[in-house]
Amino acid sequence: MKIRVEKAEQLKVKPDEDKLGFGKHFTDYMFVMDYDEGQGWHDARIVPFGPISMSPASMVLHYAQETFEGLKAYRTPDDRILLFRPEMNAKRMRNSNKRLCMAEIPEEMFVEAVETLVAHEKEWIPHLEGTSLYIRPFIFATEVAVGVHPAISYKFIIILSPVGNYYPEGVNPIKIYVEDEYVRATKGGTGFTKCGGNYASSIAAQEKAGKLGYTQVLWLDGVERKYVEEVGTMNVMFKIDNEIYTAPIDGTVLPGVTRDSCIALLKEWGYKVHEEHFTIDFLMKAAREGKLEEAFGTGTAAVISPVGELNYKGEIAMINDFKTGELTQKLYDTLTDIQWGKAEDKFNWTYEVKR
Ligand SMILES: *Cc1c(COP(=O)(O)O)cnc(C)c1O
Repeated sequence: MKIRVEKAEQLKVKPDEDKLGFGKHFTDYMFVMDYDEGQGWHDARIVPFGPISMSPASMVLHYAQETFEGLKAYRTPDDRILLFRPEMNAKRMRNSNKRLCMAEIPEEMFVEAVETLVAHEKEWIPHLEGTSLYIRPFIFATEVAVGVHPAISYKFIIILSPVGNYYPEGVNPIKIYVEDEYVRATKGGTGFTKCGGNYASSIAAQEKAGKLGYTQVLWLDGVERKYVEEVGTMNVMFKIDNEIYTAPIDGTVLPGVTRDSCIALLKEWGYKVHEEHFTIDFLMKAAREGKLEEAFGTGTAAVISPVGELNYKGEIAMINDFKTGELTQKLYDTLTDIQWGKAEDKFNWTYEVKR
């Protein structure tokens, strides 16, 4: 792929590495590429990060053909730059786009675009322990038209944001509200895609949980509100009687890269992993009987998020005395050590950025 570079007139002052937060700062440049029917993807370019000008009739603003991805670049102690399984993000984005009838990006092109932009912006990858560069690729319909149909033109953009350590004071459990009114996804819908539309419809539940003092919601299935699916921006796993339970990937749950990696590690460590439907009643019963030993969310941003409390219709399940479980901590340590290039990468998950 030919990628032209447009120079910025002035570079930004980089933020303090110990006050980065998440998604607040953006680097000097972004990657942009256009798609037009008949022409395919064209005009790949790295240009200064800044506003884009669009027609108010751009189709994305009316019919929400938009998909996105999220991954990170990590700086290793010996100053190499690693990505974590970027080909999985590339593949997932193609699947999302297929479902939304949007132009797909070939996987090699996606990875090359990410790698080239990250190499260009490498000075922005922070050095402090636990920090990284968050990568946000997204695609949206740009065709100027009012009227529902698959758009004939799209933009693919990648922006980068240096992000802080998610757990500056060590891994900390969160409280989760089991949502029994709103739903996120149903069979035949878009639950398995990473699209903005899924999030737009989830905000109401998030707000409700927030007002009650909960960090995230646990979604139940969209038909019976009975089977456990996932947490706001994470997949979720439960350790019950020394076995692991998580919802299967069969249309409604997002196929997380972190989820897949955790399952591989857990199996390697000899755990039985049930990727199957199980009910919230099964979970609450296990909690009552003292068999719900650990619970954790999995996702790129936090890696592993221990769950210390569940609230289902007013019944509270406390998990592991609101402390991070042993297995939860081991998964967090193992995954982050691989991602930051500090441990052997048996599964060949890391991808070194050439520069
Ligand atoms: C992105 C996302 C996840 C986590 O996926 P990872 O690839 O592990 O980051 C889980 N659930 C939803 C709804 C998501 O959007």
